[in-house]
Amino acid sequence: MKKKQFSKNLFLKITLFSIVAFLLLFLSGNEWFIYVDSAPREAGIEEVLVDDLADEGEADADYYEELVEAVEVDEVYVPRPERVAFLTFDDGPSRYTLDFLVVLAEFEVPATFFKIGQHIEHMSGSRELLNQVLAAGHYIGLHSMRHDMATLYQEPESAAYFVNEMLENQALVYYLTGHHTSLCRPPFGSMGNFTEDHYLTVELANINCINWNVDPSDWQNRDPQVVYQSIRDRVYRLNFPGELMIVLHETSWTLEVLPDIITFLLEHDYVFKIYTPGFEFRYTYYR
Ligand SMILES: [Zn+2]
Repeated sequence: MKKKQFSKNLFLKITLFSIVAFLLLFLSGNEWFIYVDSAPREAGIEEVLVDDLADEGEADADYYEELVEAVEVDEVYVPRPERVAFLTFDDGPSRYTLDFLVVLAEFEVPATFFKIGQHIEHMSGSRELLNQVLAAGHYIGLHSMRHDMATLYQEPESAAYFVNEMLENQALVYYLTGHHTSLCRPPFGSMGNFTEDHYLTVELANINCINWNVDPSDWQNRDPQVVYQSIRDRVYRLNFPGELMIVLHETSWTLEVLPDIITFLLEHDYVFKIYTPGFEFRYTYYR
């Protein structure tokens, strides 16, 4: 009985000691905790460096400043958030593009727009519209000139047509906006459509194709609630993966339900991103 009491006390002491040690380690700002912190860390490397040196208490203020100046901005380290969502809107520009910009601005969420060359050419004011999209902090990618299944995939020369249309689209966007992009969303997706020739020519042309892992088929499902439920179900089925690439279209029903989609993802800790150099997609959906 006495022995049992003794070991119980020892157990309590060890537990208490562990808690105190853990708290001390945490409060001391140990590096180890920085790495498990999943929140986006906007602090630059300069700040970290100065803090570290200041903790050491070794050098004087001038010395710190010299070091800070020597650090290049490119080296700023921003850990990737644990959950990233890429909202992508295909087949624009359209009469709804501006409305999409309004909703995205309300939530301060960036998105990627894959534009069809022919729509750009035929829509009046498309130059201003594309520039507005870019000025609002969104990204514009390529989505072919004509979006024609037969031309892009089913003819003997389709691989060449595909690349030519993307390069034409690329030149058009660059001409109108000064925005150069090699990011492409293959119309209808590359899965089941790309031949070996497609993979080869796309690579030779330095075009970076991206499919998706969430597709509510909103070009077909015209009910906003069906679109929302489809996204929700898919995200649950994937068990909230680290990266969501959501394919949507510039339709009135998608516009209507967009606030709900964004709210759902925000509530589940998703951080919205666009393609930027240095922040490439974690997974490719190439094949
Ligand atoms: Zn499309």
